[in-house]
Amino acid sequence: MSILVTGGAGYIGSHCVAALVERGYDVAVIDCGGHKAALKGGRLYEGSTADRDFLRSVFQKEQVDAVIHFAASSLVGESMTAPEKYFRNNVAGAINLADTMLEFKVPYLVFSSTAATFGEPERTPILDNDPQKPTNPYGESKLIIEKMLKWYDYAHGLKFCALRYFNVAGAWHDGSIGEDHRPETHLIPIILQVAQGKRENLKLFGTDYPTKDGTCVRDYIHVEDLIDAHLLALDYLKKGNPSATFNLGNGTGFSNRQIIEAARKVTGHPIPVIEKGRRAGDPAVLIASSQKAMDVLGWKPKYTSIEQIIETAWKWHSTHPNGYGD
Ligand code: UDP
Repeated sequence: MSILVTGGAGYIGSHCVAALVERGYDVAVIDCGGHKAALKGGRLYEGSTADRDFLRSVFQKEQVDAVIHFAASSLVGESMTAPEKYFRNNVAGAINLADTMLEFKVPYLVFSSTAATFGEPERTPILDNDPQKPTNPYGESKLIIEKMLKWYDYAHGLKFCALRYFNVAGAWHDGSIGEDHRPETHLIPIILQVAQGKRENLKLFGTDYPTKDGTCVRDYIHVEDLIDAHLLALDYLKKGNPSATFNLGNGTGFSNRQIIEAARKVTGHPIPVIEKGRRAGDPAVLIASSQKAMDVLGWKPKYTSIEQIIETAWKWHSTHPNGYGD
């Protein structure tokens, strides 16, 4: 019996594969846009969730016990100008995957959802059952999938956990795998590219938000802590528990300026900043309450300091100046 990880060669997926392999699971991976070098194990099948025949061929070869579904387009900014890509890749891909799971009688799915399903929250920290009103097509596509899965469970008994990630950051503890998006759009890796001398400055999007220093506030969770929650969610489903959603963050908000300051401390680099206008689709403040994940899954993040999180990312970036180099 194997765990199938879609998007397993991507940033978060590769950390999941590493954790599963380390804990002795048999792992199969589907990926079409990630880095092969990021895989610490597992059998890789190169293809897309858009291709139902490809998915069938993988499920025919593998005795899949459960699926952890990461494969998705995940850029808020891009989703504002190319929403069709998000509904096609994310929603249609998830339908293909869920249908294939039904066909092959695979009962458990752990699904990557996002804080972006909440949009501009009415209160912080955000609880799991707070209203979800996405402000961008990326969040909307993930919310559609959450809703869809509820009905797949109702009609067909497909059990799922939807894990709503807040801002995922950091790298594997030894710095051997980490974040390498092409193009890179996320705040911490871009700041670290400035520290590496690969960019001259950081463009800071929006300084007029209604926050303490005018910049957006986000809740950063270390990628290894995030993956721990996936493995706990898998155990939770295998014990016969009902489908559930969980918010995953540290419960503390850091403004973009605070992140820049923390990165200056960690790297010793001045990180020059150019102030720009707001990026479309960005909510001002996103902070999670992960209380439900703690209470129900027994989850507890190990990385609670932002410097510690940035330190692991810096370990990866400084030892891999060209990322995976492909
Ligand atoms: N951000 C920024 N400059 C950049 C990249 C990101 O100012 O080059 C800001 C972005 O507008 C947001 C925060 O950093 O306020 C976090 O953005 P990121 O893309 O890392 O994650 P998101 O919150 O969109 O998932």
